[in-house]
Amino acid sequence: MTANTKNSILIIGGGLIGLSIAYEFARKSFKVSVLSKNRSESAGFVAAGMLATHAEGLEDELLKFGQQSQNLIPNWIKNIEKDSGLECGLRKCGIIVPFKNIKDLKEFPTYKYGKYLNQKDLKNEINGINSIWQHGLVFDQDGQIDNRRRLMRALERACSLHGVKFQEGSEVKDLTIDKNKIIGAKVLNATGELKDIRCEKAILCSGAWSKKVLNKIPVFPVKGQMLSIQGPSNFLKRVLFGPDIYLVPRDDGLVVVGATVEKDAEFDQGNTPNGINQLQEGIRSLLPEAMNWPQMEHWWGFRPCTPDLKPIIGKSEIENLFLATGHYRNGVLFSAITSDIIFKFIQDKTLTDLEIRFLEKFSLKRFEI
Ligand SMILES: Cc1cc2nc3c(=O)[nH]c(=O)nc-3n(C[C@H](O)[C@H](O)[C@H](O)COP(=O)(O)OP(=O)(O)OC[C@H]3O[C@@H](n4cnc5c(N)ncnc54)[C@H](O)[C@@H]3O)c2cc1C
Repeated sequence: MTANTKNSILIIGGGLIGLSIAYEFARKSFKVSVLSKNRSESAGFVAAGMLATHAEGLEDELLKFGQQSQNLIPNWIKNIEKDSGLECGLRKCGIIVPFKNIKDLKEFPTYKYGKYLNQKDLKNEINGINSIWQHGLVFDQDGQIDNRRRLMRALERACSLHGVKFQEGSEVKDLTIDKNKIIGAKVLNATGELKDIRCEKAILCSGAWSKKVLNKIPVFPVKGQMLSIQGPSNFLKRVLFGPDIYLVPRDDGLVVVGATVEKDAEFDQGNTPNGINQLQEGIRSLLPEAMNWPQMEHWWGFRPCTPDLKPIIGKSEIENLFLATGHYRNGVLFSAITSDIIFKFIQDKTLTDLEIRFLEKFSLKRFEI
């Protein structure tokens, strides 16, 4: 280890998870560098920003992971807002999940955490909801954050003010390994030069592209297409989370509509007519009147998925290379807890029994036969 790499952390990927971890280390006075292949492709700029532990029907350790993260989020956001001077748009607005029949409602994995709504309650909550929905659950604990317009930028600014060095347009082509220890990376930068970068420790946060950096990581992309519509302010007060589509109202009346789930699209770029039709049909099935609201934007991105839909957090087989990837549909929700646990783990801080269990359940080892 050379003097200039001591206590330095190299983050591979400047998406939501990379930024969250960079922030955690930088605010604790570590030297942090972030290598980012392409800022704008990050799923952190794509996501709807729901904090939907219960509305997603998470189970077992993912449910606990989500609940723990939701406990950390208010304070985490307060720190980011204080350090960046920017608001993040956190709203504990609650999420409503509608059902066509009572059987589906009672079988919903997080049924016991919700408050029951009959059809009249549903209509009171959501003026104009399609009458195919007979019952509902409201999860007051869940909410949203304005990741696209606010959180990502606030994290970047907070990191930068804490001294994080960003290298945008820098793609890690290869890891430099010596005696099973990472000592650096070969990086193709924005001006086309291939450079050797040294590091003491690295954390792989490359989202859906993680397998391209380290072939052993079983992460693959699941494409999602989204659009936004401009509704009247305060028309929708809560997120409406249907089985195929969700409507996420921001505080200025913009409604984020998502998302397709395309497992075979690989890294296909762009919105497609089918994708947009599916989203429009979804709007009709939830809130027909919103079909008349003007469409403002279409976009797409790639969720980092694993075979068991759970993240990969902790050690790799290479000493000093750590992993924080595979957050699939819930990376916004899981970002606070991931950065907290990975910091404690790498710095040998005391972990609670539950945190140790998370690390066991989310370890890369579970995929080894
Ligand atoms: C349509 C959609 C809707 C979603 N909605 C929600 C939601 O409502 N709530 C929620 O909690 N989550 C949601 N998610 C999931 C969430 O966005 C992701 O789980 C999260 O963004 C993953 O963060 P990440 O940092 O791992 O990956 P990303 O944010 O994708 O960042 C990865 C970054 O790594 C960079 N990179 C890749 N390879 C390299 C390399 N070799 N060298 C350098 N850099 C590299 C990429 O350029 C990219 O910028 C959604 C995702 C999608 C796609």
